[in-house]
Amino acid sequence: MEQESNADKTSAALRALYRRDQRPWVVAFSGGKDSTLLVQLVLNMLQELGPLASKPVYVISTDTRVEAPNVEEYLANLILQMQSFAQRSHLPVSVEMVSPLPSEGFWAQLIGKGYPSPTRWFRWCTSKMKIRPMRRCIEAITIRHGSVILLLGTRRSESPERARRMQGRERTDAGLNPHDEIPNALVSTPIMDWSTDAVWEYLLAHEPPWGGDHRQLFHLYRQAEGGECPVILDLAQPSCGGSRFGCWTCTVVKFDKSMQGFIDAGEEWMRPLNVFRDRLKAVREIPEWRMEKRRSGVLTKGR
Ligand code: SF4
Repeated sequence: MEQESNADKTSAALRALYRRDQRPWVVAFSGGKDSTLLVQLVLNMLQELGPLASKPVYVISTDTRVEAPNVEEYLANLILQMQSFAQRSHLPVSVEMVSPLPSEGFWAQLIGKGYPSPTRWFRWCTSKMKIRPMRRCIEAITIRHGSVILLLGTRRSESPERARRMQGRERTDAGLNPHDEIPNALVSTPIMDWSTDAVWEYLLAHEPPWGGDHRQLFHLYRQAEGGECPVILDLAQPSCGGSRFGCWTCTVVKFDKSMQGFIDAGEEWMRPLNVFRDRLKAVREIPEWRMEKRRSGVLTKGR
C-alpha cells in the first residue's frame, strides 16, 4: 500500500536525519492533516529510538487568537495530549503554542491602528499574527542551540505553485535547504512526496501515539471543505487561497467556505460570527467610510 511504503521511507529518512547531527528540530504544527502526520511520524520515530532519542525536538503551533473557536478548542486539546504524552514517555519533546503580542493582534491592528481588514493585497495578518510569533520562537531556540532544523509538513501535491517552489530549492545531500529569512535554520520537508489520499489513509489507519484517533480531524475537514491557513514562515508563501480552516475573522477570502461548511453541518452558533465577518469585509469597501486623508497624506478628491 502507498501509505505504508511512504511511511517506511519517511520514517527511515527521519531517523537518519535525527541522528546525523546535534541540531535540535523545530516541527511547525498547524493542527492540519499534513503537520499532524509529520508530528505523528516524528514522535513514533523518537519512541522507536528509545534512549538514543536525546536531542531536543520542539513542536510549535500558532494561535492567532482569532481562530475559529471549534478549531481552537480542538488544537488546544491536542497540544495538551501531546505534552502529556511527551512527559510520560520521557521524550525530549516540548510542545508549545505561540501567539501574537497584544499589539500585533487582529483587533489591535483593526481598531487600534485603523488598518482595513486583511485583503489578498494587504495581508498584514499573516506577518503579524503568524510569521512574527513563530519566528520569535524559532530565533530564541536558534540562539540557545546555534542552529536548528525546521521540519515543515509541506507537500508537492498541495498545488502546482507549491510544487514549483519546492522544486526550485537547492538542497544538501540530506535534503535540507537554508531558510530564506531565518539565519541558521535549515528546512526539511519529510512528507513532500505524499499524496493527499496517502496522508488521509495513513491517519485514519494509524492512531497517534498521544492517544485517541484522527476522526475529529477528519470530521473538521469534512465540515470545512478541506482548506486551511497553514503555518507560514515567510510572506512569499501563498495562504488561504480559497476555502480554509483558520481565523474566523478572515476577510482575505470572498466567502468563508469553511465557516459556511461548519454552519451547514449544523454548527448554527457560528452563524453570528459569519455575519460579523461579512460586515468586517463590507465596511472596508464603503468609500464614504474611509478617511479623507490617504496614507500618503493626499486628500481624496470629491469628498
Ligand atoms: S486565516 Fe486569513 S486572517 Fe487568518 S492569518 Fe490566514 S489569511 Fe490571515
